Amino acid sequence: MSSITAELLIDLSKIKKNICSLKSLIGKDSNFMAIVKSDAYGHDLKKLIVRIDDIVDAYGVVRLDEAVSLRRHTQKQILLMQGIYDDLEWNIVKDNSINFVVHDPIQFKFLKKRYPGQKFWIKVNTGMNRLGISLDDLKEVLQKAHLQNDDVLMTHLACADIPDDELNLLQFANFEKAFSQLNCPIQRSILNTNGIINFPQHAYDWVRGGIGMYGGVHHPDLETAMTFRSQIISIRDIQPGDRVGYGGRQQAKTKMKIANVYVGYADGVPQNSIDGTKVLVNDQYAPIFGRVSMDLISVDISKIDNCKVGDWVVLWGDNISINKFAETNSLISYELMTKISPRVKKIFVEL
Ligand SMILES: *Cc1c(COP(=O)(O)O)cnc(C)c1O
Repeated sequence: MSSITAELLIDLSKIKKNICSLKSLIGKDSNFMAIVKSDAYGHDLKKLIVRIDDIVDAYGVVRLDEAVSLRRHTQKQILLMQGIYDDLEWNIVKDNSINFVVHDPIQFKFLKKRYPGQKFWIKVNTGMNRLGISLDDLKEVLQKAHLQNDDVLMTHLACADIPDDELNLLQFANFEKAFSQLNCPIQRSILNTNGIINFPQHAYDWVRGGIGMYGGVHHPDLETAMTFRSQIISIRDIQPGDRVGYGGRQQAKTKMKIANVYVGYADGVPQNSIDGTKVLVNDQYAPIFGRVSMDLISVDISKIDNCKVGDWVVLWGDNISINKFAETNSLISYELMTKISPRVKKIFVEL
């Protein structure tokens, strides 16, 4: 039986370091909520929690089952960001002491009852026009809920990664308007990772850091915690005119050496990755040559020295940025991280 498989090496100590770097960008009075939705962006929620529980103030997830399983591993606050929709869910959040976001008037019925220790997170729409209560509907929140000091008014920025976009200013202004409309001293939260980097002055009481913890944004202090790699299983010499892979998308102009690597779209390599996307072979950059298959990619190793079957090829990790891979293919690092498939072997390392 062959044991060759794509691997995801995960260095949890880098995530811990990244959290410290993000925290150093904001004031000491701000609390850090670690966003660990989608299995900690593909990094294994349970293993991560143990390592970071002492340096974060709370966790944010999206699905109720994530929140419930998280509760078995931490005493810290947990925020269910999609909120709840029925009484069955209300009982579950109450039994597990899970805080939840109220982002739509359909959820206002839960404002009337608060379980002991519960905090409400009220999400307002300030201009992203995705989730969030309109400023007009805030009056109704005040009528239904007796807001307390440690409840939180939150919003989410649409353009945190584009600091010059005027939508940011509009959102900050609307957030101020919402806060003064409430006219009570509750806490506030706006920033995600790019917000922390670009607008640290708006950190208020809570920041919600996700992608930056995992090193999925360009920043000198943040390192990518995952390395996605597999091995060469076959090397082929081809002649001018030979075409490679499905559709024969690429054609050799000269004599070439092609390495076939045991990783494909069923592992999490985007199927539409373009020719020329760089991967790392024996610490040298080499371009993808031809269409990504379910289980294989073809790489042009004509210029790589001493390449042989069994050598490792890194798609992203140290020295080959996940952000570069994403940008080359008009994708985002979030999608690359969360689409690594379960068949990829996760290995926890401290490099
Ligand atoms: C996912 C999410 C975040 C984290 O965003 P990053 O860009 O990954 O830092 C913050 N807030 C909310 C509401 C989210 O859904």
